[in-house]
Amino acid sequence: MTIYQPNAETMPREALAKQQLEKLQFTLQRIHEQNPGYVAHLHGLGPAEVKSLADLTRFPFLTKEDLRRAYPFDLACAPQSEFVRMQMSSGTTGTPIICPHTAADVRQWGDIMARCLAAAGVGPADVLQITPSFGLFNGGFGFHYGASALQTMIIPIGAGRSRLQLRFMRELGTTAFAAIASYPLRLIEVAAEEGLDFRRDTNLRVGILGAEIWSDEMRRRIENTMGIESFDIIGMTETAGVGMGIDCPEHDGIHIWEDHYLAELIDPDSDQPIEDGKWGELVVTTLTREALPLVRYRTRDITRVRSREVCRCGRTSMRLDRFACRNDEMLKVKGTNFYPKQVENVLLSHPEVGNDYLIEVDRVAGADRLRLNVETRHVEDPALAGRIDDDIYNLLGFHVEVQLVPIGSLPRNPGKAVRVKDLRVDGTDLPA
Ligand code: ZN
Repeated sequence: MTIYQPNAETMPREALAKQQLEKLQFTLQRIHEQNPGYVAHLHGLGPAEVKSLADLTRFPFLTKEDLRRAYPFDLACAPQSEFVRMQMSSGTTGTPIICPHTAADVRQWGDIMARCLAAAGVGPADVLQITPSFGLFNGGFGFHYGASALQTMIIPIGAGRSRLQLRFMRELGTTAFAAIASYPLRLIEVAAEEGLDFRRDTNLRVGILGAEIWSDEMRRRIENTMGIESFDIIGMTETAGVGMGIDCPEHDGIHIWEDHYLAELIDPDSDQPIEDGKWGELVVTTLTREALPLVRYRTRDITRVRSREVCRCGRTSMRLDRFACRNDEMLKVKGTNFYPKQVENVLLSHPEVGNDYLIEVDRVAGADRLRLNVETRHVEDPALAGRIDDDIYNLLGFHVEVQLVPIGSLPRNPGKAVRVKDLRVDGTDLPA
């Protein structure tokens, strides 16, 4: 197993904390020199107010709305002449968020992505098929920069074209692929139609998956069917793109590259820091980004600190749990809060259930109704629907309508999977 930047990745925590403080002060200095508007957002706080890392909690949060309002470059901290590229996150509606990169930012992105690929065991001898798109979405280029640094052979096919994806996997000796976490399900589906057996017909051994919340059951299914080891990679447009962290071969939490990113966990309701082991919202401060440094950025991702001990792989960075959900994905039905991933875990624990499902919530006569549309080869088996309902009842405390539908009948979406349709007006309960 290779560590790409051993000095940084195995740095003793005391030295790491010292470096984080210096880089934080440097970043705040940069903001003060470059952008008075950003300083106003920080209520004038700057490097002078940061004597220790704990002082960071005095700073206000930065939200997605703040970044949208700053479109296109209002919070940028480098002159536009120094920008060399940009990526964009569109979200579901409204104004996009643009992340500009300086040349140093692109090098930083390449470094962290090379670390991630190396952590997944990808090296110069591998053939990496990049299935996220090359465009405004950050996925394609992130993997491209990382693999270039490692001199790994790249197949830059981008999104879609599943039959060509499979053909390349079979004929070009692809050993590793990168994808949005639900895309392997599409590949598995098309492979079944074509009679392709991943274990028999390809050299695949590694899948690097991210950009969506995916359950452990989903992970197990993908690994078993494709004969691969999968790695959960995190990162978003705002933080530079994919590559802020990844789980190593120990699969004991996601390493976050702490010499580039300072991570805090807060209670999303009280906004107060929470102790290790408790679930909360991940808040990120960038320590080395130039064009768009982030100070206390609320990611909306819900996770927890799993460990700050040295990992068996030798890396010293803290490890987070795999993300449970995005804060805004939480559903409230009949007064019960839950995340789609919890329902996915229950559904996929039934071997008769296919890989696709849709959670539909609506309101009938003033009462919430939850319907699970579940693909299966056993549509005529009423006992299956009953077993699923029982399990969901154990999870949520109320009964649901289980609709068994044939494999392939639910809509397939390009890009990220759509798993939830909330047909209620505002997504919450009506007042009693
Ligand atoms: Zn590790």
